[in-house]
Amino acid sequence: MSNKGLLVVISGPSGVGKGTICQELLKDPNVYLSVSATTRKPGKNETTGKSYLFISKDEFEKQIEQNGFLEYAGVFDNYYGTPREKVEQSLNDGKTVLLEIDVQGGTQVKKNMPQAVMIFILPPDMQELESRIRNRGRDSDETILKRLKKAQTEIDTAQEAYDYFVVNDSLEKAVNEVKTIIDNRRNSK
Ligand code: 5GP
Repeated sequence: MSNKGLLVVISGPSGVGKGTICQELLKDPNVYLSVSATTRKPGKNETTGKSYLFISKDEFEKQIEQNGFLEYAGVFDNYYGTPREKVEQSLNDGKTVLLEIDVQGGTQVKKNMPQAVMIFILPPDMQELESRIRNRGRDSDETILKRLKKAQTEIDTAQEAYDYFVVNDSLEKAVNEVKTIIDNRRNSK
């Protein structure tokens, strides 16, 4: 893989605000955000190609066989994966490439590409995380519970593969911290 660009993995529990942070980083034209493929159903306000590429389980498994994913993982009974080609292209173009993926996926990326910058976003506390997930209004109570449980596991296991931990108590502050991490790593290449 080319090392012209910078690969940045951004993980964190659902509801922590990593999507919003990525949208802010995307205002820089040198930043590319990878669009993941998933077999989960689209939620309201989600369109294919923008939030995710929504594909069938058969299609996903076909692409696994063809080595089409940089990484993939089973999350909440569905597959999620990073399509390989666009990421490699963007790195070749010298871009900063963001992967907004879970800890399982991040750990795979780190193993294959140790130069990846690993950032984990933390909530101010678990109560705040729960109310953010509830306020999105997207999930059933059962899914909310699953997400909270996964959040705790992710926070516990992220210690191993991640280099930077950023608390999202203020969006502006969190975005600035992430930008500083990225700038420092770009400049030290
Ligand atoms: P959600 O259903 O809330 O959109 O995403 C659920 C989880 O899947 C989140 O933790 C999100 O970061 C993760 N995820 C999204 N895309 C990918 C991907 O391409 N690969 C992996 N491993 N995880 C992903």
